[in-house]
Amino acid sequence: MNKERKAIVFATNNKHKLAEINAIAGSQFHVISLEEAGFTGEIPETAPTIEGNALMKARYIFERVGTDCFADDTGLEVESLNGAPGVYSARYAGEHATYQDNVLKLLDALHGQTHRTARFRTVIVLIFDTKEFLFEGIVEGKIIEQPLGQGGFGYDPVFVPDGYEKTFAELAPEEKNSISHRGKAMQKLLDFLKSV
Ligand code: IMP
Repeated sequence: MNKERKAIVFATNNKHKLAEINAIAGSQFHVISLEEAGFTGEIPETAPTIEGNALMKARYIFERVGTDCFADDTGLEVESLNGAPGVYSARYAGEHATYQDNVLKLLDALHGQTHRTARFRTVIVLIFDTKEFLFEGIVEGKIIEQPLGQGGFGYDPVFVPDGYEKTFAELAPEEKNSISHRGKAMQKLLDFLKSV
């Protein structure tokens, strides 16, 4: 990318994600929220896969905003649940489920289960100079039995990444970003943007 910082629209309304991504992006490029780009409204995410949803969201915003943009989609894939909640992570406990509802449903589904291996998987689709690029980030870990920690969002209080003794919700934001699914996918996006 050339010297002037290029503004890129992040196709999300999620303030947690925007804050995380801006922390990773630093001064390398300027990530603009949908609100700043003048877009209001819901973005459809009805594809049956994480990749499909990221692509759907990025194309939807590109068609309306017309500038370089990217979208991400994340799922928590639990091995003993055959990859669930996966692409349905946001609405695991129902259409208007809160983060807490989803966590409780997950703990319920894993009640008495000793095999608790799980991973977060993020796919980012970037539309840059009208071309589409895909970046993936994965963090492996396990689901613990009781929520711990106040930080983060979503399933963070019950996810302990491999090599750590703390949940994502107990780690400092910078620490989570440095090892997280979205952090890794974002790093790939950043590396790409630096190379063009
Ligand atoms: P999305 O479709 O990318 O918004 O993510 C779907 C759901 O996965 C969210 O509603 C959260 O419940 C969960 N999720 C996504 N990213 C994270 C994360 O970094 N930590 C914990 N949960 C997450």
